[in-house]
Amino acid sequence: MAADADAWLEIDLAAIVANWRKLCARHPSGAVAGVVKADAYGLGAGPVVRALYAAGCRQFFAAHLSEAVVVRAHAPEAMVVALHPPMPGSEAAYAGHRIVPVLGSAADVARFGGAGILHVDTGMNRLGLPMAEMAGLGGFAPGYVMTHLVASEEPDDAINAVQAGRFAQVCAAFPAAKRSLANSSGIFLGADFASDLARPGAALYGINPTPGRANPMRPVVRLRARVLQVRSIAAGDSVGYNATWRALRTSRIATVSVGYADGWLRSLSNRGHAVFDGAPVPLVGRVSMDLTTFDVTDHPAIGPGSWIDLLGPGRDADAVAADAGTNGYEVLTSLGARYQRVWRA
Ligand SMILES: *Cc1c(COP(=O)(O)O)cnc(C)c1O
Repeated sequence: MAADADAWLEIDLAAIVANWRKLCARHPSGAVAGVVKADAYGLGAGPVVRALYAAGCRQFFAAHLSEAVVVRAHAPEAMVVALHPPMPGSEAAYAGHRIVPVLGSAADVARFGGAGILHVDTGMNRLGLPMAEMAGLGGFAPGYVMTHLVASEEPDDAINAVQAGRFAQVCAAFPAAKRSLANSSGIFLGADFASDLARPGAALYGINPTPGRANPMRPVVRLRARVLQVRSIAAGDSVGYNATWRALRTSRIATVSVGYADGWLRSLSNRGHAVFDGAPVPLVGRVSMDLTTFDVTDHPAIGPGSWIDLLGPGRDADAVAADAGTNGYEVLTSLGARYQRVWRA
């Protein structure tokens, strides 16, 4: 690790590729794209796209057009899709960078025609063409139709089957079009969710697509932060803003170089732990902007300059998310710009 780094984020590209291959094996009905929106869920769109492209991935989905343009630079021959609907005046940018637009209205279809993916809304009520408006498209023949699942990570939610049924209806209206349905968790929902092109993001990055069951994906990230200072405090002393934690015994407190400005969410105050030498180190007090404090009383080996793991073996983004009251997606996409990022091939 670089001597001048206070926090270090390791991204295992081989694990991302292994996860993609595993998803390909689980989705024999069609291809498996890489969803790389939000800078590949915070892990770096350039290195992630290059690794997946080298492994043979030939379809990528970004959210913003500007993200798709970045993806194109790293994936010269791939199909690169921008999920957000095309805004007025963007035609030249789509054409110039060979970005596939996702069409979600009759007006989008009129502007882009069959070059785009038709997104039909089967229950999200967010983006995409409402099913009631399908009849208004006339003889339009898209290359692909897609929809997006509302609750795929909850296999028992009845809305999954409702959406699969509606999507079958949509596809019947466009018999020549290829179909794109499942996100990460959708790939694990069974045959009704198979299609020509799955669109996983989270599972590529090690987030568990089957919550409540063992995580079938390989871990991808390791976040290590440096202990800046260690102090001893007396029983009864408090730590941090607003004195939300008080020592019950003479304690050693380590102050670490990560805070909410780095995406270590403030809702993690007094929640969860880091890992040192395989053992948990409890987080105590409020998470502040640049710093977080840990009770290292039981870890005499920790001193100034020590590295502790905030994410890594034994502590994945899903576990941190459970402590923060959010999901693994938000933990990853919050990872801050100050981390020194290192991509391992
Ligand atoms: C983000 C997104 C995905 C990927 O979802 P994951 O749950 O991360 O696999 C797929 N499709 C659409 C439309 C999305 O917005």
